[in-house]
Amino acid sequence: MAVDKLNYLSDKVRNMAESATIKMAGMARAMKAEGKDVISLSLGEPDFDTPDHIKQAAKQALDDGYTKYTPVPGLIELRQAIVDKFKRDNNLEFTTDQIVVSNGAKQCIANICLALLNPGDEVIIFSPYWVSYSEIVKFAGGTPVPVHADISADFKVNAGQLDAAINPKTKAILFSSPCNPTGSVYTHDELTSLVEVIDKYDNLFIISDEIYEHINFTDAHASIGTFDAVREQTITVNGMSKGFAMTGWRLGYMGAPAWIADACNKVQGQFTSGASSFGQKAAAIALSTDLKPTKEMKVAFLKRKHLVKELLDDIPGVVANDPKGAFYFFPDISYFFGKSNGILTIDDANSFCEVLLQEANVAVVTGSAFGDENCFRLSYASSEETLKEALKRIKNCLSKFS
Ligand code: PMP
Ligand code: GLU
Repeated sequence: MAVDKLNYLSDKVRNMAESATIKMAGMARAMKAEGKDVISLSLGEPDFDTPDHIKQAAKQALDDGYTKYTPVPGLIELRQAIVDKFKRDNNLEFTTDQIVVSNGAKQCIANICLALLNPGDEVIIFSPYWVSYSEIVKFAGGTPVPVHADISADFKVNAGQLDAAINPKTKAILFSSPCNPTGSVYTHDELTSLVEVIDKYDNLFIISDEIYEHINFTDAHASIGTFDAVREQTITVNGMSKGFAMTGWRLGYMGAPAWIADACNKVQGQFTSGASSFGQKAAAIALSTDLKPTKEMKVAFLKRKHLVKELLDDIPGVVANDPKGAFYFFPDISYFFGKSNGILTIDDANSFCEVLLQEANVAVVTGSAFGDENCFRLSYASSEETLKEALKRIKNCLSKFS
């Protein structure tokens, strides 16, 4: 039987874009395997190792026999540690039946979208946005509605823009603060004005992705779920990947109204079951012990941020904001569009990234994957030495375009 393989795949999968972050990281890895000296600033992944006491806790859990299925929403001791963490760090009140632990914050967002969305439902996504938001919303049957703020607004959507985008089909609002890819952080005052708008609508849910909470240089992380007006309408997503350097462990969690947590629990029960048992034991320790390693990583990220900002500002044509959190820069590089080095021409953000990869051997991610065609994303979760070398290569490469 001759199968038309491409057309045989589901429409859902054919219409889904590949994750640009993961694709770029894969390309860089493949070039390295071919012996090329590629620097990858493409993936948002702390270069630090998981702190030792967390690794020890996982080893201990294995020795203690934590090798079996867990309850789908997570071990009760982890859910209690999450309840305590939400109270301690975010002033958010939950009970353990409102918590669902998943295989990464990515799965939390997928669970939520699958649990909430019907065809025709719209989800307002603050843009620039993390690559997977729009694809997850689409896969779940919803329609992503990006509401965009550019670099002149420090990439932050205002209340007027939000109000104008809400219509009877709007079911949810999805955003991250600190933001991937821009590093922007919504202040308490900015959240207040967004809440005033959302408060006018009862059927609107907020999906607040706070996975970069601990990498916030303002020291004032604000959770939108603390506002009384939207408390019952907010789902707070977080995870172990960024703040605890645990990307490979695949552990994320959310706090939500109990009926939404129940629905996510049902979805997860059919797709993946509970997250890894010994990983959950270690996460419970990570969340309830000293945050010293997390704070040390933040200090290192801040130092790197200053370094990269200085080096980016030194490249004519590159315009970078001053990110207040996460570990990304999202510079505007529209100055280079139409410019050539005699061999290659930079037409847009995609070709800008191709040029950097081919000519400078530096992998970064195109802004178009994050909803902004004028920008590219650079992750500075690498050593200072690597960052200096990468920025030197980028500057040198771009100096040849006129
Ligand atoms: N949200 C944002 C904003 C992210 O950058 C990421 C990338 N890791 C995730 C969610 C998903 O994280 P994970 O699945 O590793 O917990
Ligand atoms: N969230 C990280 C990033 O934006 C990891 C890769 C991914 O899951 O997209 O690079």
